[in-house]
Amino acid sequence: MITVTNLSVAYGAVQALSDVSFSVEPGTITAVLGANGAGKTTLLRTISGLVRPQSGSISLANPTGGTSTLTKMSVERIVTSGVSQVPEGRGVIAEMTVDENLRLGGLWRHGGGKKVIAEMYELFTPLASRRKQRAANLSGGERQMLALARALVAEPRVLLLDEPSLGLAPLVTRELMGTIKDLTASRELTVILVEQNARGALSIAEHAVVLYLGKVVLADTAAAVSADTELAKYYLGMA
Ligand code: ATP
Repeated sequence: MITVTNLSVAYGAVQALSDVSFSVEPGTITAVLGANGAGKTTLLRTISGLVRPQSGSISLANPTGGTSTLTKMSVERIVTSGVSQVPEGRGVIAEMTVDENLRLGGLWRHGGGKKVIAEMYELFTPLASRRKQRAANLSGGERQMLALARALVAEPRVLLLDEPSLGLAPLVTRELMGTIKDLTASRELTVILVEQNARGALSIAEHAVVLYLGKVVLADTAAAVSADTELAKYYLGMA
């Protein structure tokens, strides 16, 4: 369980998040939706420790009992406690090969994550045939696969995905959403999925949080958010 409590974040005079509260059940996908500037990326960056809040807290239940307060931990400790983020724009290193990018993901793993890298090549077969190619030469969908695979090499419990469908064709987006859903189940992940593609995210999420100008407009099941046509039209641009 991840619990976000009364979280507020500011960049100087810009109030990016105001009093945000919601919780995420383990083993589920929670979609974080909202227009440009709603505060979605800020929320993910605060969970992964890259941005420090003005007030409020984020806690993560430990598998062995008790909770860790992420908002009091260093970025390194947050990563080693099982939280991996795939940043917007994918964050793969264009000049490095597919294999080098994956090995980067395993830097903090015992044995460099060799076993998981082999699993990733089985799971994402287009990467296996391109392992010696530079990431710069991959298609948009393949780069997204690489970013996802690199995050998984760290064997996270919690995966934070920032707009994975950005710039992808509708068919590739549908495949990617299916992959995220399958991975969540097979690797027992808890996923927070930031998306402007509300329809795609709601099709695989169990829960959704809708942000508007840094505030939570609605936090409910994905089905309830999808059924709220006025909200979907006004805040999510869904016809
Ligand atoms: P998008 O969908 O466009 O990526 P978002 O919902 O992810 O938007 P954020 O990127 O979290 O929104 O931005 C929330 C607010 O904080 C916006 O008003 C943005 O301009 C501002 N902001 C974000 N990062 C910074 C920063 N480093 N310095 C100052 N203001 C920032």
